[in-house]
Amino acid sequence: MRIDVVTIFPEYLEPLRHALLGKAIERNILQVGVHNLRSWTHDVHQAVDDSPYGGGPGMVMKPEVWGPALDDVAAGTGPAVEAVDLTSAIPHRMGPPKTPGAAHGGAVNGAGPLILVPTPAGRPFTQDMAQRWSEEERLIFACGRYEGIDERVIEDARKRYRVEEVSIGDYVLIGGEVAVLVIAEAVVRLVPGVLGNQASHQEDSFQDGLLEGPSYTKPRSWRGLDVPEVLFSGNHAKVARWRREQSLRRTLANRPELIENLRQQGGLGADDEDFLKGIQGGPASNEN
Ligand code: SAM
Repeated sequence: MRIDVVTIFPEYLEPLRHALLGKAIERNILQVGVHNLRSWTHDVHQAVDDSPYGGGPGMVMKPEVWGPALDDVAAGTGPAVEAVDLTSAIPHRMGPPKTPGAAHGGAVNGAGPLILVPTPAGRPFTQDMAQRWSEEERLIFACGRYEGIDERVIEDARKRYRVEEVSIGDYVLIGGEVAVLVIAEAVVRLVPGVLGNQASHQEDSFQDGLLEGPSYTKPRSWRGLDVPEVLFSGNHAKVARWRREQSLRRTLANRPELIENLRQQGGLGADDEDFLKGIQGGPASNEN
């Protein structure tokens, strides 16, 4: 997978070089290009924003800067050629590259790059989107600042590319960079080969429509708190049922709408319904 990020704060994307994503870069499963939007300005001040038509507070990002920037990054032309890909922060821990990455340039999956525009006015980001986007070969993120990007940039880009506006939550950040870190991390960990144990994300929250229940490790007893006895039973079916119930309990307490969604999709069995009837919706407990 190749990710390109267009931003006025390239250094903000530095965390993408670390941990699991850094490993993915080192193994050539992931390439990350970070592009300074100001490379597409033509004035001495390198202005990327201007006052809004119709008045009002704040500034709006200019279409004459964003339009060529997205086109060049998609095609691998103009100032986009000069951007240096992020290198892994942990190369010494990894072996030589194994899988060749996607080419820096035009369409690599027939459908062309998917342009993602973080904005609080976008569709809420979900695990389903992360899963879908993890199958893309190229993602281009357009990081807004100020009051956001001139609407025509999105309208124009939709004529040539697939574009999705996405929000990471019902709050307003200062810029899109943090949203890119969130989305990129959620997406890249689902790319085959990135997680050491591919099965590990299959039990994560949202994979089965529920939140994951509590997890425990050694020691068996800590500060007077014991790990639930059932986890030592060696009975896989019993452990699986206990985990499911903890998951139902926590979901009912924290995200009851997910229970309702799952019910409507026919995802709750008779055992689940009995369990739900029997609890009050309190937080996940350690009882077994
Ligand atoms: N005027 C915009 C609005 O009310 O919808 C808010 C602009 S915000 C101050 C500046 C930039 O931060 C946005 O263009 C976007 O890139 C990013 N941003 C802010 N909140 C976000 C969120 N919840 N999800 C994704 N991106 C966000």
